[in-house]
Amino acid sequence: MHSASPADLSPVPETEAPRDCPLCPRLVRFREECRDEYPSWWNAPVPAFGDPDAWLAIVGLAPGKHGANRTGRPFTGDYAGELLYSTLLKFGLAKGEYRGSPGDGLQLDGAVILNAVKCLPPGNKPEPIEIATCRNYFEAALFALEKVRVIVALGQIAHVASARALGLPPASTKFGHGAEVQSADGHILLSSYHCSRYNQNTGRLDAAMFEKVFERALELRCPR
Ligand code: SF4
Repeated sequence: MHSASPADLSPVPETEAPRDCPLCPRLVRFREECRDEYPSWWNAPVPAFGDPDAWLAIVGLAPGKHGANRTGRPFTGDYAGELLYSTLLKFGLAKGEYRGSPGDGLQLDGAVILNAVKCLPPGNKPEPIEIATCRNYFEAALFALEKVRVIVALGQIAHVASARALGLPPASTKFGHGAEVQSADGHILLSSYHCSRYNQNTGRLDAAMFEKVFERALELRCPR
């Protein structure tokens, strides 16, 4: 049993992994441990969340244990989500009120959030093989969103996964806060330091820096 039905909120449900996806043995074991320990939590691949007509895709790394893995909605219920959703609300990319639960009624407007890896990894660190294995789901979900033009990647792993999805050569896609590169098919990859608690507490990222990335994304949507 789980507390919500975030799959109902997924913009393209047919691209989502099944609840018991068996493809990453280490993550499956961790999922089972979490189900035993926290039976009321989501404890399953976390589906994308947002607007099916999104022009902006925000790519995270993987569900956080007490955030998306608990609630079933990306970045919902943990520290990182506070900054992400407040920023989306500030820039008109979300409507409603964020209260840290899939039942809060929050809706994204023009934006969608998805993760490069759909299952909770121990220590928030997926193995390379797990990133590669989940790539099919990530890319299927991304490319099903036909109006996406700008991708904001949160952190280096999301940046690399997004660059790979766009067919961008590694040499032209060095990760950095505010780094920007355009793919041959016209997508623009914009990268940001991850809005994790660690990055915020250490001063690597603050709200102003994060907002600048979204200001730039909006400029890219509507070039002057
Ligand atoms: S991370 Fe992706 S591929 Fe691996 S088990 Fe989860 S949903 Fe399946």
